[in-house]
Order: sequence, then structure tokens, then C-alpha cells
Amino acid sequence: MLKQLRAIVGEENVSDDLADRYIYGSDASIHQSSPSVVVRPGSIKEIQEILRFANREKIPVVPRGAGTGESGSAVPLDGGIVLDLKRMDKILEIRPQDMFCRVEPGVINDELNRELKPYGFFFPPTPASGKVCTIGGMIANNASGMRAIKYGATRDAVLGLKVVLANGDLVRMGTSTIIQASGYQLERLMVGSEGTLGVMVEATLRLKPLPEERAVGRALFYELSQAGDAVSKIITEGIVPSALELMDEVAIKSVNKALKAGLPEVEALILFECDGIKASFNHEIQKIKKICEDCGAFDIIISDNPEEMEKLWEVRSSIFPATSMYKEDRIRATLAEDITVPVSRLPELVEGIHRIARENGIIIGTYGHAGEGLIHTAFLVNPRVSDEWDRTRKAVDEVFALVQHLGGTTSGEHGIGISKAPYFKKERKELLELMRGIKKVFDPHNILNPHKLMDAPEDFFTATKLRYPVKERR
Ligand SMILES: Cc1cc2nc3c(=O)[nH]c(=O)nc-3n(C[C@H](O)[C@H](O)[C@H](O)COP(=O)(O)OP(=O)(O)OC[C@H]3O[C@@H](n4cnc5c(N)ncnc54)[C@H](O)[C@@H]3O)c2cc1C
Repeated sequence: MLKQLRAIVGEENVSDDLADRYIYGSDASIHQSSPSVVVRPGSIKEIQEILRFANREKIPVVPRGAGTGESGSAVPLDGGIVLDLKRMDKILEIRPQDMFCRVEPGVINDELNRELKPYGFFFPPTPASGKVCTIGGMIANNASGMRAIKYGATRDAVLGLKVVLANGDLVRMGTSTIIQASGYQLERLMVGSEGTLGVMVEATLRLKPLPEERAVGRALFYELSQAGDAVSKIITEGIVPSALELMDEVAIKSVNKALKAGLPEVEALILFECDGIKASFNHEIQKIKKICEDCGAFDIIISDNPEEMEKLWEVRSSIFPATSMYKEDRIRATLAEDITVPVSRLPELVEGIHRIARENGIIIGTYGHAGEGLIHTAFLVNPRVSDEWDRTRKAVDEVFALVQHLGGTTSGEHGIGISKAPYFKKERKELLELMRGIKKVFDPHNILNPHKLMDAPEDFFTATKLRYPVKERR
């Protein structure tokens, strides 16, 4: 296998080094399962040759961007080849007159936006991992972020794709036009496919004009339920902010510790942003302020000063790493981390999660894109206490049951991977056979990221090694 792969991409772009295999055996999830080899192709032709070879020899292939996925979708459960796409990082074309750009899959989100800025356009999904995550990974996971409430998720920005299929054939899906009604929208099927249907080698992405101005606000609440009510009321009023985020006490205390942010340690805060032309969004900002006050908010700050706005958002974008510092003996385990419900059910979801944490004697921080009904849960676990893992597993089951009860979904933006698969299978049970049929058409030998989504193992805790020791240290 090594000989064949080296002949395709060159000696320096193939590695079976133990350290590489270890690193490429994990992402930002709790899972670990090493590949046999890491391959770094530099062209579509090389990817086609790799897939022709793997398909013939029935070797699993897992495409990989930056490995920031939080549910294990890039973890190679069956070993085989990890296809690292980061060398494919060219922006091929920017066409503001047609509102699209064409990029290779390894382009990094923030770098694309840096290049688009002088043209007065941007690529709207804004994942908090934007500094490192790739366009290919974003499409495969249907990533989104805090601006999805106004500008949509990655799926809304994908106009066309070039895809290498499992047998090595190169196909073009979609168009370069803003609208199209030409039959099955297969490019949409690729969105959220998590590397199981083909390798995306080029994307045509819809761009949006950069808003001229913006303003950011922050409101503090003594009680979490007051913040939940404020979010619901803002949406019911028909206001569409460009971001509406919630943070609970664990998230606030975590950023205070990590950043010395000096925030009052109340039960909740919300951050909101409106953009466009100041004269029109000022009215919306004032309406949001009034709703927050009516719901009991205090110390409301509003700013359109770039430095102050940056500072207000820094608090939010630091939560993920900051929660790992909440208590010295705890790590943050990514479990149930992007559950999503209809916005009106958000207060019940957040209160329910806190009840589940109390009843199971564990710590769960909550924060997220409240305006989209998405809550990130930070399970803060002491991995050396096995009893704590047992209580965590029970709590995860209960959180997902609550989400189903509230009419929500298993994943709002991070995808299914390994750790959400059992719950996804329950949620979509009548569609699983249909999905298996689609997979068979695209990938008859099941080489592309096998055992994910509808075919993932039932018990995600035992499906792979966990990245942390489970037993109490003696
Ligand atoms: C700190 C932090 C913050 C985050 N914040 C957000 C957030 O705000 N919003 C959000 O949506 N997500 C967020 N995430 C999750 C993650 O960053 C996103 O899911 C991101 O889109 C993954 O991109 P990646 O390049 O790292 O993909 P990877 O993790 O490498 O891969 C993800 C999936 O895509 C597949 N894949 C990758 N490239 C291709 C390709 N070219 N063709 C076919 N399949 C491919 C892989 O096989 C895998 O199934 C966050 C993660 C972290 C660690």
C-alpha cells in the first residue's frame, strides 16, 4: 500500500509514522482510532488515483480537513487511509459581479474571508473554529455559526461542487448560478455527508455583501430563565439580529478565569449584534434593549466601537478552551455539544439540562447560538473517576431524550460522527434504509468513511479508545 501511494503523491506526502498516525486518529472529539497511513494529495488527479487504488483493494479512506470536528466524524474507525486535504488550499476565483467564489477544499474559512474583504463580500458561515477549519470540512459537516440566524448555514452558500467518487470518477454537481431548478440537487446531498459519499475537491460558494456597519450589545441577568425568555421575545417580535448568543454561569466563570474578563458572575448573559445601515438597525437594537430590560436585565452595554465590539465578542469566542480551565481536575468532553430545538423551547431546554446535571451530580456548562435554538453543552468530567463517566453517559442519554421531547434535533452544526450516532439513528429511524441505499449507489464497496452516520456503532463510549484514561489512578 505504501509503495502504491508513494508512487501517486511522492514519498514526502505519505506517512505511516507512529506520531502522525496517532494525531490523525483523533479530532476535537473524545475518540481515538489510528489510520494505517496518512496521505497528503496535492491535486484532483492524485485524489482520483488514490481512490481508484483504494476502491480496487477495498481500503477505507477518510477525508480530513483540519480535524476540528467535535463528534469524531474524521476519526478513521476502520483504520486505512486518512486523506489530508490541507495541501489543496487555493482560492481559484473570486467573482463579485456573480456573487460567488471557487475554492479548493483545504482553504481555511478566515483566510477566505480575508481575501474577500477588499471586494466588499464575505462567506457568511462563522464557526468559532474559523481560524483553522477548512471549507471541505465545513461543507461535509454543514457547519454554521452565530450569524446563521440572519445569513444561514454552510448549506445555504454551496452553489456547486466537484466531487471525486469512490471509484475515482470526477463529477460536477450544481452550478455557478444563484438559483437553479435543474433536477436533483446532489450538491445539497453532499452537505452534511461527513465524507461518506465522495471527496469534495472544489466548491463554488455564494457570497454576501459585507454589512456597512454593526453594533454589539450585552445584557446581564440574575436568572437563567429571564435570559431564555428574552431570547424568545426578541424572535417573536420579528427582529432578526445578526447574532444572538447566550452564556450561563459556568461559561461566565470559565472566561473570567481564562481571560480575567471581570464579568459579574450572574446566572446568564446574552450578547446580540445587529448589522446593515445604522439608521435602520438602531431601532432594532433599542427594541432588543427594551425587551431585555422588561425581562429583568441589568447593566446593558451597547457599542459600535470596533475595539469594544471585539472585546465583547472575545468573551464568547473563548468559551470552548476556557471551559477546560473551569476546574483543574476536569476536562471538557464533547458530548451532545450542539443540540438544537425550536427557539420557543430554548428556556425549557436550558433549564432541563441544568436539572439533569444536578440530578446526576455532574457539571454541564451551557452557551450557544440562542437565536437559532442551538445550545452547546460543556460536560466537565474528571476522566480518572470511572463512576463519573457512568453518570455522564446517563446524563447524555437524558439530554438527548429531552431534545427529542422538545421537537429538536441531535446536531445543529457539528454533525453526527461517532458520539451522536445512536441518537441520530433514533431520530431518523424511518430514513436509515433510504440513506443506506444512497450510500450504496455512491460507494458500493463501503470504503468512504465507513461505519459513520446510519452505520455507526451503537455504544460510542466503547466504539473507539477514549482519548482520556477512564479508570481511577492508583
Ligand atoms: C473550538 C471549536 C469551535 C467550534 N465552533 C464551531 C462553530 O461555531 N460552528 C460549527 O459549525 N462548528 C464548530 N466547530 C466544529 C468544527 O470546527 C466544524 O465542524 C468544522 O466545519 C470542521 O472542519 P474541519 O476542516 O476541521 O473538518 P474535519 O474535522 O477534518 O472533518 C469533518 C468531516 O468532514 C469530512 N471532510 C473533510 N474534508 C472533506 C472533503 N474535502 N470532502 C469530503 N469530506 C470531507 C471528514 O471526513 C469529516 O467527516 C468547532 C470546533 C472547535 C474545536
